[in-house]
Amino acid sequence: MIIAIDGPAGAGKTTISKALAARLGYTYIDTGALYRGFALKAQREGVDINDDARLKKMCDEISLYFKNDDGELRLYLDGADVTKEIREPQMSMMASDISARPMVREALLHVQRELGRERKVILEGRDIGTVVFPEADCKFYLDASVEERARRRHKDFVKAGKEVAIEKLIEDIKQRDHNDSSRKHAPLMQADDAIHIDSTNFSFDEVIDQLVTIIKNKQG
Ligand code: C5P
Repeated sequence: MIIAIDGPAGAGKTTISKALAARLGYTYIDTGALYRGFALKAQREGVDINDDARLKKMCDEISLYFKNDDGELRLYLDGADVTKEIREPQMSMMASDISARPMVREALLHVQRELGRERKVILEGRDIGTVVFPEADCKFYLDASVEERARRRHKDFVKAGKEVAIEKLIEDIKQRDHNDSSRKHAPLMQADDAIHIDSTNFSFDEVIDQLVTIIKNKQG
C-alpha cells in the first residue's frame, strides 16, 4: 500500500505524514528532504544550478539516503548526517530552485521509486501522486491558506528559537508556491484522483482522523 501526500509548502504534510505513519505502522518518507540534500551539496560545492555539466556530475556522484534513528528519519549526504543543515531557512528556496532542473528530478525519481518498494509506505512531496507513484493506492492533496501556513511555520521557528517575521514567511511561501507550480517538469498540482483536504480550519488531530478514516475504508 502506497499513500501519496502532496501539497504546497507549509500545508502540514510532514507533521501529518509522520503522525499517520506512526498510527498506521507505515514507513514515512519526506521526499522534500532529498531535494534539500541536493541543494545543500550544490551550495557547499559552489555549483551553479544552471551549469549542466557540473549538475550532471553532481547527479552521477551524489549519495543520498535515509537512516531511521529511533523512529526519527535522518538524511545522509555523501555519508554524513545533514538532517539539521537542510532545515536552515535559505535551503527551502534553494531546494525549490534546484528541483526545477529535469536532471535532478530524474535522478531523484529513481531514489524515490526504490524507497517506495517498502510494503507500507507514506511519501510526501509535490509530485508523488502525479509522477513518482501515479498508481499509489491512496492520494491526498493537502492545502491551507497562505496566512495559516505562514502562521504554522512561524510557530515552528519560534519553537526552534529562531526569529523570522511572519510577513517574510508569507512572501517566501508565495514565491515557493509560484516556483513549484509553474515549473515545466512535474509541477505541483493535484492528481485527478487525489482527495483534496483543506486544513485551514481544522486541527492536526482532526485532519489525521479524517485521513485515517479514508485510508481504512480503502484498505477494506
Ligand atoms: O517539502 P519541502 O518544503 O521540504 O520541499 C522543498 C522543495 O523541494 C519544494 O519547495 C519543492 O520545490 C521541492 N520538492 C519537489 N518535489 C517533491 C518534494 C519537494 O519538487 N516531491
